Amino acid sequence: MSKVTPKSGMGTIVTHLGEGHNPNHAHVSPIYQTSTFSFPDVATGAAMFNGEMPGYVYTRLGNPNTDQIAAKIAVLEGLDLLRAQPGREPGEVVGGHVFSSGMSAISSAVLGRVKAGDTVIAQDALYAATVTLLNDLAPRFGFNVVWLHHPTTADWERAFEQNPKAVLAYAETPANPTMSLVDLVEVAKIAHGHGAWLMVDNTFASPYCQRPLTLGADVVVHSTTKYLSGHGLVVGGAVVSPHLDYVNGSLYTMLKVLGGSASPFDAWLANIGLKTFELRMQRHCESAMIVARMLEAHPQVAEVYYPGLESHPDHELAKKQMLAFSGMIAFELKGGMKAGESMMNRVQIATLAVSLGNVDTLIQHPASMTHVSVPVAMRKAAGITDGLVRLSVGVENVEDILADLEQALDF
Ligand code: PLP
Repeated sequence: MSKVTPKSGMGTIVTHLGEGHNPNHAHVSPIYQTSTFSFPDVATGAAMFNGEMPGYVYTRLGNPNTDQIAAKIAVLEGLDLLRAQPGREPGEVVGGHVFSSGMSAISSAVLGRVKAGDTVIAQDALYAATVTLLNDLAPRFGFNVVWLHHPTTADWERAFEQNPKAVLAYAETPANPTMSLVDLVEVAKIAHGHGAWLMVDNTFASPYCQRPLTLGADVVVHSTTKYLSGHGLVVGGAVVSPHLDYVNGSLYTMLKVLGGSASPFDAWLANIGLKTFELRMQRHCESAMIVARMLEAHPQVAEVYYPGLESHPDHELAKKQMLAFSGMIAFELKGGMKAGESMMNRVQIATLAVSLGNVDTLIQHPASMTHVSVPVAMRKAAGITDGLVRLSVGVENVEDILADLEQALDF
């Protein structure tokens, strides 16, 4: 009998789900740092290989550490679906896999869904490597991408009407780094009306702040490098979906043949980080709201983009589809790029570094760092101005974060 069910709170799930189930009853799950697994005899090995018998055969194809974290993330993202279907096992409702990076997860998720001749409809405010995947690699793989700039619901509808071969809507909300939002309920409805799926990068929100599957999305992708693992120790990714034929079919094939499997040690580290997920997210969200308000009132600051602020253009949508507003903030200083550069060079508690969702506060300049690879016209159309600064609010004491930002802005 498992001490944790989908009815349990998120903190209990991340701490206990699938833990302790090892032959020696080690309290903390051991690291299965092995490339291969032995078979007692040839018949058993053959039965495991052809799926007639459960068991591990080779780490690229599956490993207890990667399965453990994949099951936890699937339950977190599928929590509301599971609670709505009591009596069904999590694996009967929602499933997923973890990958060696967020990009490995995203490329496997997309390639597991689209084939040559298909169309993907995507908003243009996306993580830069996802833009490269869809912009540069799609033509080489023979599928078409239709880009939407700040799309309204009507724009998504029109794009699907004009592109009958569309099989996928791709969205990132809040988007990296602009913090713009996509109405997931509406876009899911439109995609489904045209026989397509909605895939959502939920990295910026995390399942603590937003659960796209509850809102109608078909697939959720993650960079687990960020909030899910939380400590900046590992690079990793995850894909979760209630379409179990996809999870166990074409997505698993992508994992096997593209080979972006997570290492057991990385999965183990991510699992340790995940245990404090709920606790960390509470703090990230609370502190980000305080920091966003301070920045909004600061005389040096021109604009603050944080979905929790009443001034955010999509604040009403944020209140409707998000459970909390995350720890990510974007802002522009009145002095533009030059002022932003001075500020970023002056921070002391915050670290000038890319990545996000770490326990410590990180600050960076998207136009010259994370999004430098996006073609300039596309970057500007997506709202990533030269002066935009991105802040990932950590779990340090908020008074110290405020004091640091205030001294950095004092020039
Ligand atoms: N998606 C988003 C929103 C990201 O911010 C990132 C990385 O910053 C990725 C995907 C890619 O993740 P990874 O760096 O783990 O490959």
